[in-house]
Amino acid sequence: MRATKIICTIGPKTSRFEILRQLSEKGMNVARLNMSHGTLEWHRSVIQSIKRINKKTGSPIAILIDTKGPEVRTGDVRHNILLKKGDPLTLTIRHQAELEPRCVEVSYDGFVKEVEVDDTVLIDGGMLSLKVRDIKGKDVLCESLDDGILTSRRHINIRGKSADLPSITDKDWQDINFGIENKIDFIALSFVRGASSVTTLQNYLEEKKAPIDILAKIESAEAIPQLDEIISVTDGIMIARGDLGAELPYEEVPLLQDEIIRKCRKAGKPVVVATHMLESMIINPTPTRAEVTDITHAVLQGADAIMLSGETATGKHPLKALETMDTVAGRIERKMKSDTTVRVAVSDNSKEEIARSAAILNNNLKAVGTLVITRRGLIAALLSKCRPISPILAFTNTTHVRRRLGIHWGIHAHLIKFSKDPEITIQRAIEQLKRKKTISAGDRIIVLSDILVEGHYIETVQVRII
Ligand code: PGA
Ligand code: MN
Repeated sequence: MRATKIICTIGPKTSRFEILRQLSEKGMNVARLNMSHGTLEWHRSVIQSIKRINKKTGSPIAILIDTKGPEVRTGDVRHNILLKKGDPLTLTIRHQAELEPRCVEVSYDGFVKEVEVDDTVLIDGGMLSLKVRDIKGKDVLCESLDDGILTSRRHINIRGKSADLPSITDKDWQDINFGIENKIDFIALSFVRGASSVTTLQNYLEEKKAPIDILAKIESAEAIPQLDEIISVTDGIMIARGDLGAELPYEEVPLLQDEIIRKCRKAGKPVVVATHMLESMIINPTPTRAEVTDITHAVLQGADAIMLSGETATGKHPLKALETMDTVAGRIERKMKSDTTVRVAVSDNSKEEIARSAAILNNNLKAVGTLVITRRGLIAALLSKCRPISPILAFTNTTHVRRRLGIHWGIHAHLIKFSKDPEITIQRAIEQLKRKKTISAGDRIIVLSDILVEGHYIETVQVRII
């Protein structure tokens, strides 16, 4: 059982029911829908297919929608614009049908106020870099820093600045409402710049009574000084390395990845490493060794989840990309099991200490797993934070808690009917695990559950032999 979770972005190459079923079979834990692309009808049909698969196979694949966010894009160009180093290119907010050659529209009118002479503007995350030479009214006159090609509707970043746009756009609100209606599990909020956009969305979801977790995407320069506040309020974080490495110099990305993962693990918040993990497999059937090393690195750092984007959305080998990620993560996890030390700081919170004790027992006694009875998923998440060496077998009584636990490191969540008597619930859980052949007679397991003592529930950690 792989502990590091895999998120697959669904796109034209993977939206068919049969392919989705194969992705599920090969270990996809979360399906991501990128709201920058596709119609709501298209997204709805993918969501329905995944729900059908979950029903049919009993799998708990969670659904994540990723908002478009306040993205700035170039407009349409009639012909691709070929640029040589030193060539001029004008970015304009004159919205007119015909523009001169070497001139392209920008989708955001505040752009001309935002940029300054000598700023670097990156197109498509740096496929093309421009230096701002002059600003004249609605025109930003730039010079190309490399040879390159400009096609239609490309993504724009100004290095070091996120455009001063609303954090959650009108389109994002529509997509969020669509997500609520369709009972999805996660919203990845793009270009988060501070904690307030996360809390705004949290309050809205609460008002709508929608059990949806928020992943704040760290991809804008302004988010970096706000990291601690963002982590403290959000349900989870996505390290969106694509835009992050455009808004900041790319050599900052590995250091930030390390810092964000450390902070999230300390806070016990799930953290996702995203973008370019197997980029070459969009075309090739095998990964580069550097990509294999990148996945290994994320797993070693203890990321909760690793993500595929274009590899599964539009690539030529979506299933192979997933298999590769699964194999590479599995290999390094086998190695990691030899380190049995639980590296979580002691706490004066009883739930945290009980989870830590369970992890220590699990590791030192080489238990086959820890069975956790969890209503809201809290104690299961606390155990995940301790990164025990064998699986966290979580049992909950709602499908949405079960699916949301799917993003946490090491948790394998199951559905169960709770009895008033916790011992009956534990027995039901053990029966389920035996039927699934996860455990068998003679196995040692750790049990983390309430027990009933003279009418009161008391939290316990137990060692049991099946
Ligand atoms: P995106 O976000 O795929 O929505 O752009 C991820 C990233 O920027 O890395
Ligand atoms: Mn992005």
